[in-house]
Order: sequence, then structure tokens, then C-alpha cells
Amino acid sequence: MLQKFDERNKDIKVFIGGKLFPRSEAKISVFDSSVQGGDAVWEGLRIYDGRIFSFEEHVKRLQESAKTLMFADIPGRVYIREAIVQTLKANEMTTDSHIRLTLTRGEKITSGMDPRLNQSGSCLIVLAEWKKPVYDNNSGIKLVTSQIRRNSPLNLDSKIHHNNLLNNILAKIEANYSNADDALMLDNYGFVAETNATNIFMVKNNILYTPFADACLPGITRQHVINIAGDLKIAFKEKNLSISEFYNADEVFTTGTMGELTPVIEIDGRKIENKNNSGFLNTIRNKFIQMTQSEGEKFI
Ligand code: PMP
Repeated sequence: MLQKFDERNKDIKVFIGGKLFPRSEAKISVFDSSVQGGDAVWEGLRIYDGRIFSFEEHVKRLQESAKTLMFADIPGRVYIREAIVQTLKANEMTTDSHIRLTLTRGEKITSGMDPRLNQSGSCLIVLAEWKKPVYDNNSGIKLVTSQIRRNSPLNLDSKIHHNNLLNNILAKIEANYSNADDALMLDNYGFVAETNATNIFMVKNNILYTPFADACLPGITRQHVINIAGDLKIAFKEKNLSISEFYNADEVFTTGTMGELTPVIEIDGRKIENKNNSGFLNTIRNKFIQMTQSEGEKFI
């Protein structure tokens, strides 16, 4: 799975700190905190048929991550929504697009880690691109277990959706070298946490399982899947799950804004039968797709 350059994104406009810039001029300062220390928070949002899917949930997570990192000035939902809508309109995007929303701590007066050096306020970036779901959701993906542990609250809490992505990038490098699509990451106890980019679910004997959100991002798509399972009266449990349980699952799938719901067909060379492929994943996915077409206010 390697994303390709989409020609339609050649001349997109990007919102940076209150203004729109053409792609070629869309730049931030070398003094910005994200350059100096990955000191920023972010969200990935998807646009379906004139709607920003799960806008409220994404804004809440962005604001909570910024509060945890003690950003001085956190923009409100109205400002963020206007920035997104302005960017989408400037790019004439109403569907099939993805937004990388970033809030950096802003520019520093000199290089260094200390947030007291940030004296010009935070900086909101709205990068909207034409992008279809990034995985092949029909043929599915292969995973390999990484040696890199997903962060627990012991070190850097995975509930903060921050730009220090090296934990995940190191795992993704392992996946690339193993010709897998993504890496499965374990927590400090050896239980499955999530992949480098998505949350993970498995089905065994008609029960849907996902790991506790202790060492993974509590994904918005993950929560939608849990809610849909509830609506459909599918038995569901959050649980510590070992890699053996995943190898022997009836179905495994990943969830995330970038790729939606994606079947996993192999983990560390063990085939996942996806025995109920006509069952849970497809049923939940159909409901999810329906939600994307109806949830939230239209911006056009
Ligand atoms: N896990 C990780 C590590 C992620 O980066 C993401 C997406 N940002 C997810 C899971 C999926 O989260 P969501 O469903 O909110 O997109």
C-alpha cells in the first residue's frame, strides 16, 4: 500500500494561520514548534457528499490534545469549521477529499523546546486533498507485528493525537521491509494495541472484540463501529487480546478515517480466514457507509 500523487492536488490551496496559500507557497517557519519538536496536534477528517464527517468529535479530540499539551490559545469550533469550509470551497471539494488538520504551538522567538519561547500564538493548518480511502477495502491488507511497542501512558499517552509520529513511523518501516501493508503494534504487556495507523477489531465465535484503549488512539471510527455493533445487537467486548487470538480469529479488520473499514487477510504469514466475511465486517461497513452519507450538516 503506497499512496500515489494525485494530479488534482497539484494546485490546491492550503489554509495556514488565517490565510490561504497556493501549494507551492504553503510553508511554515523553521521556528515553528512542529519543526522544532513535533510540537503540534492533528486530526484527519474525511469529506463525504458535502459533509465533514464526525466534525464535532474531531474538533473535541484536537482541543483536548492541545489542552493536555498546554497550548496557550486553542481555537474554538466555529473558527475551525470556518477555516475548513473556506479551504474546501477554495478548492471546490465537496466529496472524496481528506483533510489533515494541524494545530502547531506556533512560532518560537528562538530555537528550543521551552513553550515559553512561543510568543505569537498557535497556528492552524488546513490541508485538504483529493483522496479516496487509502487501503483496498475489497482485497484487504497484510500486517506484520512490529518490535516497536505502541506508547502507553507510562511514556507518551497515545490519547494525545500529537505530531510526534516516530513511534508509528518506526513500526511502518518494519512493515515496509516485510512487504506488509502496515504494522501491528503491541503494548508494554505484549497485548495487541493497534496498527501504526488504525485501530483493530477481531471476531471470534460471533463476538466482536477490540483492545482496551490503553495504548492506542481512541479512534473516532472505532467508536462508530462500537456504536453500530450496539445498534445491530452484535455481542461486543473490549478486552486484552494477544497476537494468538488475532491469528486464530474468524475475521480481523482495521478502522480509521483514512481507510474506513479494511479487512486484514494475513498477520505474520498466518492467513485470516475471514470466515464470516459476509457477516460482521460487511454488515457494519454497510451501516458505516450509510452514516457517512447522512451524518452532520451540509456545508454546500
Ligand atoms: N490509530 C492511529 C495511530 C491513528 O493515527 C489513527 C488516525 N489518526 C487511528 C488509529 C484512527 O483514528 P480515527 O478513526 O479517529 O481516524
